Amino acid sequence: MSRAFNFSAGPATLPESVLRQAQDEMLEWRGSGASIVEHSHRGPEFIQVAAEAEADLRTLMSIPEDYAVLFLSGGATTQQALIPLNFAAAGQTADYVVTGHWGKTAIKQAKPYVAVNTVASSEAGGFRDIPARGEWQLSKDAAYVHITANETIHGVEFRDTPDTGDVPLVADFSSSIASEPVDVSKYGVIYAGAQKNLGPVGITVVIVRRDLLERAGQNRADIFNYASHLKGESMLNTPPTWNWYMLGLNMKWMLAEGGVAEFARRNAEKAALLYSVIDGSGGYYRNEVAAAVRSRMNVPFFLHDEALDKPFLSEAKAAGLMALKGHRALGGMRASIYNAMPVEGVKALADFMKDFQQRHG
Ligand SMILES: *Cc1c(COP(=O)(O)O)cnc(C)c1O
Repeated sequence: MSRAFNFSAGPATLPESVLRQAQDEMLEWRGSGASIVEHSHRGPEFIQVAAEAEADLRTLMSIPEDYAVLFLSGGATTQQALIPLNFAAAGQTADYVVTGHWGKTAIKQAKPYVAVNTVASSEAGGFRDIPARGEWQLSKDAAYVHITANETIHGVEFRDTPDTGDVPLVADFSSSIASEPVDVSKYGVIYAGAQKNLGPVGITVVIVRRDLLERAGQNRADIFNYASHLKGESMLNTPPTWNWYMLGLNMKWMLAEGGVAEFARRNAEKAALLYSVIDGSGGYYRNEVAAAVRSRMNVPFFLHDEALDKPFLSEAKAAGLMALKGHRALGGMRASIYNAMPVEGVKALADFMKDFQQRHG
């Protein structure tokens, strides 16, 4: 076997021990006569798996009791449409802060349902910074304020929680959830597709302050109604049981490793190492994001000469470092270094980058 260090932006690397456990339990889950993926979602086996995953996520993220946790399908993008449907009246204004590609997606999905007010955007500067909170012109009666906690493509991350007063803050945490301690009570809604920091693709976590579920929202089918999902314990229809189970294994792994405080420590170490190689390369490599808002999860970088991109990628692959090609919107390279990427993987990448510079300098 030759598992590489996988820097994919998502679906992304998973801990080997989690994959092994899933392999061990594939044919039969704990003496139950069948694989977990073959059990009814309403049977005691899966109910236990589902309940443990929620309890473990709550422990991991210190989610207060007055917040509900939903496990849904449809990915983060679907939530970007459901959020206005559930939390805004038809035609009401909702405020959006755009700090990269995914902030734009959020607006695109919301536009059919709300009057979108883009209160701040860093697009003119190429998404290399986050407009200061003091510059945001919030609407008077906004249903909510939407931010993208970490921009996966542009590598820009909020390093503190903006204060939006009584207006609920809704945050797309797809690529940074559970990567460091976060005060959940400062948010109205936190949502995240699982495939970056929580587990496999196919399941999405929505953490929502319970009082917001009492908002009437807009005319919508029951299946688009978060309150109905809560009442139905995220089983209004057949949930993605395998993905939920895998997410649960990953939660147990994170708790056993020391929880989010430990991952925050590792993630800071990994990011510091990579940025120091980039900044110390004398311009051979460059990252253009303002230092204060550089992402700890996704590190986009460019080589000083585009002609070196191809050899960089092929030599990296030969060295056991895969999926470093940047998003097509930006070009260059991108190293995604989520929770499941070990420090040694980033050390291997840092060493490779220094070595590559020496050989092709
Ligand atoms: C990956 C990603 C998305 C899209 O997630 P899907 O699950 O594919 O819908 C949205 N927002 C952010 C920040 C992401 O990283």
